Amino acid sequence: MSKTIFCKRCLYNSKHPLGLIIDGEGICSGCRIHEEKNILDWSSRKEKIIKIIKKYKSKKNNYDCVVPISGAEDSYYIVHLVKNVLKLNPLLVCYNKYFNSETGIKNLSNLRIKFDCDIIFKNINPHTIKKITKYTLSEFGNIYWPILAGTTVFP
Ligand SMILES: [Zn+2]
Repeated sequence: MSKTIFCKRCLYNSKHPLGLIIDGEGICSGCRIHEEKNILDWSSRKEKIIKIIKKYKSKKNNYDCVVPISGAEDSYYIVHLVKNVLKLNPLLVCYNKYFNSETGIKNLSNLRIKFDCDIIFKNINPHTIKKITKYTLSEFGNIYWPILAGTTVFP
């Protein structure tokens, strides 16, 4: 088993379920991508994505794309960009993390109504989640692993 290395900035580790890479300076790939946000030319990238998505727009009123959501504020912003700015018809997908507050559940419901979108939910059996969480805690030292895996693999 390889040694676990921690990012000097965010403390995520090299066994992160999303496959983070820790570079020679001890900084993870997530932190490096975060740095890029401030230097990217966002307007040229917007023009580029508008060209790319033209071929994906449905002419028969079907879904144009899949958008993973959690119901948090970033989900609202992403769905706003996809629906209102890019003019796509997204199918929203949500992996149930089983840590949903009453407000979070209302936010998800409101998101669907506000943006007039359909949502598909993935609900894994809680007994299975418990088994997977026990396993990932002992194997990877991480109880959040099944959630990160589910929210990235399901969409
Ligand atoms: Zn980091």
